[in-house]
Amino acid sequence: MHSIRKRPAIDGQLGWFETSPSSHTSIGQRLTGQHRFDFAVIGAGFTGVALARRLAELHPQTRIALVEALEVGQGASGRNAGFIIDIPHNVDGGEADAAASRKLHALNMFAIDRLRGLKDRFGIDCAWQEAGKYMSAHESAHIGALETFAEGLKAAGFSYEFVEGAALSQRLGTDYYKAAIYTPGNVLVNPASLVRGLAASLPENVSVFTGSPVTACQYGAPHVLAFADGTLRADKLVLTVGSFSEAFGRVRNRLATLFTYASLTEPLSDAEHAAHFSDVQPWGSTSAHPAGTTVRYTPDRRIFVRNTFHYRPSLHASDADLRAAAAHHRQSFEARFPMLARKPFAYTWGGLISMTLNHHSVFRRESDNLFSVVGCNGVGVAKGTYLGHYMAEFMAGMPSAAIDDIAAGSHPNWIPPEPIRGIGAAMRLRRELAGAGGEV
Ligand SMILES: Cc1cc2nc3c(=O)[nH]c(=O)nc-3n(C[C@H](O)[C@H](O)[C@H](O)COP(=O)(O)OP(=O)(O)OC[C@H]3O[C@@H](n4cnc5c(N)ncnc54)[C@H](O)[C@@H]3O)c2cc1C
Repeated sequence: MHSIRKRPAIDGQLGWFETSPSSHTSIGQRLTGQHRFDFAVIGAGFTGVALARRLAELHPQTRIALVEALEVGQGASGRNAGFIIDIPHNVDGGEADAAASRKLHALNMFAIDRLRGLKDRFGIDCAWQEAGKYMSAHESAHIGALETFAEGLKAAGFSYEFVEGAALSQRLGTDYYKAAIYTPGNVLVNPASLVRGLAASLPENVSVFTGSPVTACQYGAPHVLAFADGTLRADKLVLTVGSFSEAFGRVRNRLATLFTYASLTEPLSDAEHAAHFSDVQPWGSTSAHPAGTTVRYTPDRRIFVRNTFHYRPSLHASDADLRAAAAHHRQSFEARFPMLARKPFAYTWGGLISMTLNHHSVFRRESDNLFSVVGCNGVGVAKGTYLGHYMAEFMAGMPSAAIDDIAAGSHPNWIPPEPIRGIGAAMRLRRELAGAGGEV
């Protein structure tokens, strides 16, 4: 048996989960006893949930297990910034040419349409906002990055708007940013609510097991998964465990797993809202610089801030890490919203991003009846949704142009093992941060 030593934990106070209307409803049950399934999917993030649904649609007569260590919505899928990104941006640059961008856009739009359809069909209350997205710059030095982004958008035929000065301040309720590129197709959500709603509405032939970390596994026919109080055997197994993939002894030397952190304030008071945000609609902004700060103004009138990266091979964020991140968040928050300087954060948490060096994903057959999907590179709400969906079709031997496009983008570069990996990550993070200036 391969023992799984690194397992997910709750890193901080998970703001989206805690404020989700469904946080008190239980989804699934703890796995105890002996079980036998046709398919097992480990990891109930956006990837695993999309995969389990598509497997159930394609194989209605089979039994499918979806297994999650935490509660659904407590993993990275419920800790992120909640952008369902339609247009490749600087976190997921890939090949810069227009044809590649259009292909990526088509896959992202497939995911957004699918998620929207499921949200409507099952009445998932996830603060879904067709709000678009700003990519914003504070410093003149970074306006060039916006111009480069705009050139790429133009070449690929995507619509966008360049907004600056007073017009931008009016839309955002802060005059911190000099300019931004607004693209209309992005959707903003409470990601914990969305992934929970998706898991709760899976077809009947999917059994969801939560609070059930896999502690060991033996790959074979069948695959055997061990839990604290039970065992699960499955003929086909898919790993959608994100940054924990290496812990399962697969996807070695491909993923750079980084912690990044987020904070969420209490809702603005009526007086704060009336004074500063009465004409401001909910918005989300990523930064013109990859190491810059992501900010949102949510429909329930909270401010969300995300920045800071740490490389932590333990895959846990310490209290000291969380305190350091919260201090960075406060600085970024007060720089943007000096009029709200006393507004405290109600929640601060950390979450893992699984990056690959060339932004490719892992979408592959590991061996007979064993598959891996990972490497969402910080854009996994849309990407995980389409990779999960198409992995089920790939397993069923259903060829398509979409699968060809995914396969072409699934050759992640080799990453050296420790200690070189850690040294490289620290150097890269230092270099990125040094260039980000006031975008943080
Ligand atoms: C702070 C932050 C902000 C981000 N912002 C955005 C954004 O705005 N938009 C966007 O698209 N992406 C964003 N991302 C990235 C996004 O969250 C990921 O790309 C996405 O969660 C990947 O989904 P996944 O299902 O592949 O993996 P995960 O969400 O990581 O799901 C894997 C699951 O596997 C489970 N698991 C692991 N080990 C075991 C085990 N031993 N037994 C059982 N279960 C196990 C984990 O608990 C986890 O729930 C952000 C990430 C962070 C951390």
